[in-house]
Amino acid sequence: MVNRPRRTGRQVMPTDQAPEGALTKDAKPILSFAPRRRGKPPAHLADLDFEQRQKVLVDAGLPKFRADQLSRHYFQRHIADPAQMPDLPKSMVDQVEQSLMPPLIKKVHTLETDDGKTLKHLWELFDGSRVESVLMRYPSRTTLCISSQAGCGMACPFCATGQMGLTRNLSTAEIIEQVRMAALACENGDLAGGPTRLSNIVFMGMGEPLANYRAIINSLQRMIEEPPHGFGLSARNITVSTVGLVPAIDKLADLGYPVTLAVSLHAPDDELRDELIPINSRWKVGELLDAARRYFVKTGRRVSIEYALIKDMNDHPWRAQLLADELNKRGHGWAHVNPIPLNPTPGSIWTASTSRAQNEFVETLRNAGIVTTIRDTRGSDIDGACGQLATSVAKEEESSDE
Ligand code: SF4
Repeated sequence: MVNRPRRTGRQVMPTDQAPEGALTKDAKPILSFAPRRRGKPPAHLADLDFEQRQKVLVDAGLPKFRADQLSRHYFQRHIADPAQMPDLPKSMVDQVEQSLMPPLIKKVHTLETDDGKTLKHLWELFDGSRVESVLMRYPSRTTLCISSQAGCGMACPFCATGQMGLTRNLSTAEIIEQVRMAALACENGDLAGGPTRLSNIVFMGMGEPLANYRAIINSLQRMIEEPPHGFGLSARNITVSTVGLVPAIDKLADLGYPVTLAVSLHAPDDELRDELIPINSRWKVGELLDAARRYFVKTGRRVSIEYALIKDMNDHPWRAQLLADELNKRGHGWAHVNPIPLNPTPGSIWTASTSRAQNEFVETLRNAGIVTTIRDTRGSDIDGACGQLATSVAKEEESSDE
């Protein structure tokens, strides 16, 4: 029998500190699916499949076979500037740049930690929007965490990106450019330890990936397809995260790509999850876990349940037990739980759980037969939570303008 603590009222962000989208005493957060900025980035080779690339070239009066050549430069050599392609006639460089390879992202800021084994990049897009990606080297893999949207409309009150609101969806090519730049950084030895190969991708940066569904699916194709059509990464090394867009989880499962689904659950009960993850007002915990289970059945891929441990908020042993019960009643071995100590956003009332609470939470899950791994907090000392680098750089720029 587990004692539930008596609740002492909603734990919300103080109204005077709450930016747009945050949970306040007086207002529910507003979910946003419609982007504020509607301008579209220029079309790019990485937006297109191989036949479409050939068609664009032919329409521009260029030979079709150049599609193969340009794709090899892009996906195998990670070169995106036509001027740097020695086998492309000089007379074609401008035309290729305009029709297929316009510059899409520009590096604004880089932070380095873990003795150079983690690099966090802030990128500026064609319309001034900014997104982040984090490249992390481990002994047996190198993982890139990428953004799928500029800002995010899901309004999770503990998250820096959620407090920005949604600016716009990224295009396929803007997502893929983050991957290409990371692959290049790996080859060039930008990470400590010398040159390496990019092996893993996680969609856990800014944005809710499944709210930008079409671009995510196209990006997965570019990542998985063999060169020269794509990067040739293993689908098994790609993770798509979601806060719980149930219909999109089912659509993704129907595609049958063996990518890992990560569900950002953060609470096993609707009462708390309604507060922590506003999309829970549309799809409840039970519906979300049912969809996650269906994903496992269709793809054979074990689902990751992400759980940010927030002090005195969601870290009670009874919640660990409830989570275990909810998972076990849908079957065994289909999901594993990754608790991660919260990386608090500046000025927020939310803080990470104590290590005692964390250990008790993990033990409760393990005793109930749930495979549980504390997730690595790489990058947390460099504004590692999504949206924190963009926010802190914007503040620095603001103060230097004054
Ligand atoms: S936690 Fe994820 S889904 Fe929620 S606001 Fe932040 S980026 Fe969006």
